[in-house]
Formats: sequence, structure tokens, C-alpha cells
Amino acid sequence: MAEDFRRTQKLAQVRNLIEAEDHESAAGIYQELGMWKEAGEVRRLGRRQIVTQVHVNVNDLVDQVRKAGIATDYTCPTCGGHIHITGETTLATLRNCQYCGSVVQTTDLVDFLTKVVGYQ
Ligand SMILES: [Zn+2]
Repeated sequence: MAEDFRRTQKLAQVRNLIEAEDHESAAGIYQELGMWKEAGEVRRLGRRQIVTQVHVNVNDLVDQVRKAGIATDYTCPTCGGHIHITGETTLATLRNCQYCGSVVQTTDLVDFLTKVVGYQ
């Protein structure tokens, strides 16, 4: 009985955490309750939202670069190569450094481009 109540409370907390987009904490509670499948699902949900958001941001930011007629260089953190970014740049060409081939972190790129276009 007390156990049931505790479980109900925890599940209510999970709903609140998902509402607050704290998917990792929500997944942790599911795991405590032995609900492994649900824990995986809530993590996937969180990741998908982050990926979608970042992609929209990069496209949007490159669009801003084009409209502003800016050309800039993003310095590859791995090799120090200058990755040229202009209005013609697409997300596909920014996926890897063209000099060393390392994967460009989209979140870093978003931070960089945000500063370049002075856009909050
Ligand atoms: Zn590089």
C-alpha cells in the first residue's frame, strides 16, 4: 500500500520532470522503479529534441550569415584549420573539418555563429 503510494508519487514526479524537459532525471526515476524500457524512451525523447533544436539553429544561423552578407572562419578545435563560412555554406559541408576530417561539434558551431551574427 505504502509502496504503491510511493510509486504513484514518483510517476507524478516523472511527468513534472518531462514537462520541465529534464529527461535525464526522469529516466533515473524510471530506472529506480525498474522501468527500463520507459527510461530508454524518455532518454531518446530528450536526445531527439536536442538534435532537432540544434539543426534548426545552425540552418537559421547560416541563413542570418547569408542575409547579413558575412563571411567568417570557424577555427577547427582539432587542427586549427580555418573553415570558411559564407551564405553558400550548408550544414552538410560543416559536418566535418575539411582539413583533418574531424567531426565539428554542432553546439560549438551554434555558439560561434551566434556571436558572429550577434543574434541571441
Ligand atoms: Zn580540423
